Amino acid sequence: MVASLFDPSEENKAIWVLLESAGVELTDVSFELLAKGRELADEVDWPLAGVLIGDRLEHLNSQVLSHQADEVLLLEHPLLEAFTVDAYTQALYAAIMERIPSVILFGATPNSRDIAGRLAVRLRTGLNADCIDLRMDKDRGVLISDVTGFGGGVVALLEMPDHRPQLATVRPGVFHSLEASAPRSDKVRRAKVELDQSVIRTRIIEQVKGEGVSIGQAPVLVCGGRGISGNFEMLTELAELLGGDVGATRPPVDEGYIERERQVGQTGVICHPEIAINCGISGAFHFVVGIQDAEIIISINSDPNAPIFEFSDYCVVGDVEQILPALIQSLKEERVVTHA
Ligand SMILES: Cc1cc2nc3c(=O)[nH]c(=O)nc-3n(C[C@H](O)[C@H](O)[C@H](O)COP(=O)(O)OP(=O)(O)OC[C@H]3O[C@@H](n4cnc5c(N)ncnc54)[C@H](O)[C@@H]3O)c2cc1C
Repeated sequence: MVASLFDPSEENKAIWVLLESAGVELTDVSFELLAKGRELADEVDWPLAGVLIGDRLEHLNSQVLSHQADEVLLLEHPLLEAFTVDAYTQALYAAIMERIPSVILFGATPNSRDIAGRLAVRLRTGLNADCIDLRMDKDRGVLISDVTGFGGGVVALLEMPDHRPQLATVRPGVFHSLEASAPRSDKVRRAKVELDQSVIRTRIIEQVKGEGVSIGQAPVLVCGGRGISGNFEMLTELAELLGGDVGATRPPVDEGYIERERQVGQTGVICHPEIAINCGISGAFHFVVGIQDAEIIISINSDPNAPIFEFSDYCVVGDVEQILPALIQSLKEERVVTHA
């Protein structure tokens, strides 16, 4: 096994979470990481630092502190104003080399994943990706990460007892965020950031804002799988009638029927709807993990033995092409009656 740059004798007993912002707000996954980081920090009685990278970020300090970090670590520089993986990795790497925290958590977002992977290589340490749970072994100060494997058939417990820092990524929606409350401290530290334009090999040609699809918080989620043969118009109509949104399994996303932001599951979005309606979906664990927290799960499948029924509160055996139009029709009629 490759020796890491640092071993446990050199660590500072601290937990860092790398935070991201969208405009004036931290992102949802940042709040979720702060909540989990707080829990881990309390398990071992270590400080929790929320790390912000960018330029002129003071406006975010109060959000970090009111979500129970013990301190904010600011890595600010004009060259960090826009995200580039080269500059962000370099800035965080320098802060790690100076302080050697024991644990660093990242959101499994495109940017943070990119940084985490690069840091793992530079620091010659391990990176536990897409963890579904985390805890600390108090006696050894070791992070234990739950990661699914073999199609979700097993949950592997991973640890890196001899490598520091211990890095882990967590997908948005896996943990619950805390409500803002009275800060534990007002400590804000600025790390020294030395950057030169020459380290930035990325050239930003154009920034394109996405549609802003965010299915993670939809109260009703109507999901379509391979069994709906790409007929997402029907699902959209049903979702609109129910005041919800549309999600999908991976096959229709891969086939280009629907945007990747709508993929639900282990490598998609973890959702917490009140009601999940699964249409033409077999029930692979990779998908189920994305809806299993729903209060009510309804599934429609033509195969009475489809595994999705094991996870469902209501099981409808039949053809989606017949059941969904009938359901849409009856919801429309009910609306007419209600509004009459
Ligand atoms: C590392 C890894 C990560 C993955 N991550 C994800 C992920 O995040 N999200 C995800 O979804 N998948 C993911 N997958 C893929 C996952 O394993 C499954 O292959 C996928 O979820 C299956 O999608 P499906 O249920 O739509 O398709 P299928 O498994 O093909 O099921 C289609 C279902 O539709 C039913 N059906 C067919 N016609 C009709 C009809 N007319 N009416 C009613 N029912 C009908 C069939 O009976 C069947 O049960 C991942 C796989 C790997 C290896």
